[in-house]
Amino acid sequence: MQRLLRILAVLGCLVMLALGAEDFYKLLGLKKDASDREIKKAYRSLSKKYHPDKNPGDESAHDKFVAVAEAYEVLIDDETRKIYDQYGHEGIEQHKKGGRPSQHHDPFDLFSRFFGGSGHFGHGGSERRGPNMEVRVAVPLRDFYNGRMTEFTVEKQAICSACEGSGSEDGHVETCDVCGGRGIVIKRQQLAPGLFQQVQAGCDKCAGRGKVIKKPCPVCGGSRVVREPETHELHVEKGMPKGVRINYENEADESPDYVAGDLIVHLVETEPALGQADHERTDGTFFRRRGKDLFWREVLSLREAWLGDWTRNLTHLDGHIVQLSRKRGEVVQPHAVQVVENEGMPIWHQHLPDGVEEAYGNLHVEYVVVLPDQMEKPMEKEFWAVWEKYRKKKGVVLDKENGRPEGPIQFPGHDEL
Ligand SMILES: [Zn+2]
Ligand SMILES: [Zn+2]
Repeated sequence: MQRLLRILAVLGCLVMLALGAEDFYKLLGLKKDASDREIKKAYRSLSKKYHPDKNPGDESAHDKFVAVAEAYEVLIDDETRKIYDQYGHEGIEQHKKGGRPSQHHDPFDLFSRFFGGSGHFGHGGSERRGPNMEVRVAVPLRDFYNGRMTEFTVEKQAICSACEGSGSEDGHVETCDVCGGRGIVIKRQQLAPGLFQQVQAGCDKCAGRGKVIKKPCPVCGGSRVVREPETHELHVEKGMPKGVRINYENEADESPDYVAGDLIVHLVETEPALGQADHERTDGTFFRRRGKDLFWREVLSLREAWLGDWTRNLTHLDGHIVQLSRKRGEVVQPHAVQVVENEGMPIWHQHLPDGVEEAYGNLHVEYVVVLPDQMEKPMEKEFWAVWEKYRKKKGVVLDKENGRPEGPIQFPGHDEL
């Protein structure tokens, strides 16, 4: 009876395991036809998210970290991926039992092949951390207004995937026999006859690494790293300030000797330029931004500024229309500024007060009045006549109004000093 119970318990556990194992694609947030690149990307972001160093004491994060590593290793290998696609977890278990153990067991080892170091984060720990990398990415004002998912590519030093950062073609790395793996040697220097000094020096044979490789990896030439472009997603959020810094954790240069530092993106604004597509040719393209406000200069003719009766349709950065208008008789002075409320930049969610979902700055429209410098002769005559008529009636001489003298004024001499 007891034996039966035990068997039942074991069976129960197996069923639980089979049920509990999450679909690898789902786990990595991928579609069935995901490319290797997508699988790698998913692993990069999820393994950082669930890394135990970042989630101390959180068992479920630890389990996820292990599961993500397993899912990655199964899906990145064409053979195991095929087996998984056909037979699922069961098939993978069978395959493992078939005596072909997968290359890596330790999820921390896998992590270190992506981010360097020994598989742990450099924050506050004893682990050495590589330098941060800074790049500028410029996007048009339109993207700051509307928000946009985009991409950018940086070239960086990456751990060579051909040799998995060992630098060796066959995976063999030997301890240097000159320094015994310490990377340093003690040299005796003669200072004077009979007087010696011992000095420490880097080992020449292994260049201080303590290890030597007989067959260097043909891809990286034994240097363990390669330079390669990497593409990152960039989420430009509505209303992000110019010059905002976006952090990509552990995405700077990689090396087996340290944990990769952070890639820091400075988001800046491109110079406005007239594009080809309609949405690149709106008035908004040439709005100028200061903080949450936008600025625009609108040109009015003399007639419009003085007599009114005009309409303007400004196309904003998302294509909507901001209508400006004056009725007949409404005068606009040159350089007058009209503040159109809520037509400025959206305010970035991080700057919004609690409970406010969205808010906008203002659009400042400055009016520039342009006078005609040419007129048809008859028109000039008519205007002249009208002006003369009203000038004679109640025209004022501004000099007189202001009390200016008609001639020069005598200044007292210097003799009284
Ligand atoms: Zn290599
Ligand atoms: Zn050595």
